[in-house]
Amino acid sequence: MTSLNILIVDDHRLQAQVLKNKLINIGGANITCVYSGREAVSKVKSDSFDVIFCDLNMPEMDGVQLLSSIKDCGYNRSIVILSALEKDIISTVGDICKKLDFSFIETMEKPASVSKLFQVIDRIEKSNVIDASVVKFNNKLPLSITTDDVLLGLSQGEFKNYYQPQIDFKSGKTVSVEVLARWLHPIYGILTPNVFLPIIESEGLIDELFEVILMNTLRDYSKKMLSYPSSINVTQDSLNRDNFSDQFFDLCNEYKVDPTLFTFELTEKEVFSDSINLLENLSRLRINKVGLSIDDFGTGYSSLIKLSKLPFTEIKVDRSFISNCINSTSEKLIVDFSCALAKEMGLIIVAEGVEDKDTLEYLKKSGFNLCQGYYTGKPMPIEVFIIFIEIEGMK
Ligand code: C2E
Ligand code: CA
Ligand code: CA
Repeated sequence: MTSLNILIVDDHRLQAQVLKNKLINIGGANITCVYSGREAVSKVKSDSFDVIFCDLNMPEMDGVQLLSSIKDCGYNRSIVILSALEKDIISTVGDICKKLDFSFIETMEKPASVSKLFQVIDRIEKSNVIDASVVKFNNKLPLSITTDDVLLGLSQGEFKNYYQPQIDFKSGKTVSVEVLARWLHPIYGILTPNVFLPIIESEGLIDELFEVILMNTLRDYSKKMLSYPSSINVTQDSLNRDNFSDQFFDLCNEYKVDPTLFTFELTEKEVFSDSINLLENLSRLRINKVGLSIDDFGTGYSSLIKLSKLPFTEIKVDRSFISNCINSTSEKLIVDFSCALAKEMGLIIVAEGVEDKDTLEYLKKSGFNLCQGYYTGKPMPIEVFIIFIEIEGMK
């Protein structure tokens, strides 16, 4: 018997029913079938599921569109792709799921055997035990969070900074951190940005979030809890404000914090607006020796010429390329190319999402400067970061 809440999405009613029966045979009890992507999206909005079995080939909204729509609704649990399409198409969709960051992903050819289904349900249950505390709530939350909740959370100090160490490949020591927002929700616990950023963005509260995270960082510096340079995520909306850099320098002044401790990370997708305000802010920050990083490098649409004209100091290669670079020729090529480009342009190059020793060794050899990933340190609250640094000092 499994207590998992299961959703089956397949336009072929008979096949959906056959799959449902097989799942019932292996103990499934809470199974819902829907027959189109549109129905699936509205079900995901109203109910909470642990796993979605998704057919790829559906009229109106195909499986790939569906995956990105349900991700937008805040679903981040398990996905099982079931399809009669060729293996390589199914495997490419599996890669898309990885990029969308679902917590568990499996791909299967149709029809799925009972024994294969049994194995998958078993693995999902095991992975659920590990993730339950955070993920279960994350799945439900976007549905019940209101703008007022977010505003209240922002004003009552519920949004906290987590710091993820950035390690110098040469020395193996922490040299800087990336600041990542977390919402310490009074009921739901620690919430990650995939839960709250969509609502913050759609309600136009991104500036407010930036301000809270910046103020938290300034306080940690001024209380001497943090001494390492820090990278903060900023969006183009914030940088388009004509007073952005003035306000930033004023605040640094007020808290007696050296502005050169900061680097602002702007995603590659956002780098290429021609707005005068953006360019002015970027130049003023650079003139005052604040760092500027292109985040998620490789996922945007940048023209390299334009990139070379903007005053960036750092390139952060996206996790999707790093995580598979030692196994995939194309990802290795992108990683090597980014590294060569950064060297040529005199920029620092950061690898994000390093999860194992082999990847770390490869990137070190390739000439990357900084390593950021679960292998060298997950994001952590300042109190834990202080202990992390103490332990590092003892090694
Ligand atoms: P990002 O800027 O690309 O940040 C890196 C994300 O990758 C973080 O997720 C981090 O926890 C995760 N990560 C780092 N190393 C690894 C690894 O080895 N494996 C895996 N699987 N993940 C790793 P997080 O904290 O959930 O943040 C997600 C995104 O939310 C960030 O992506 C950033 O775009 C956004 N974000 C976070 N904090 C803020 C903020 O204060 N303001 C704004 N505007 N966006 C923020
Ligand atoms: Ca970032
Ligand atoms: Ca990134």
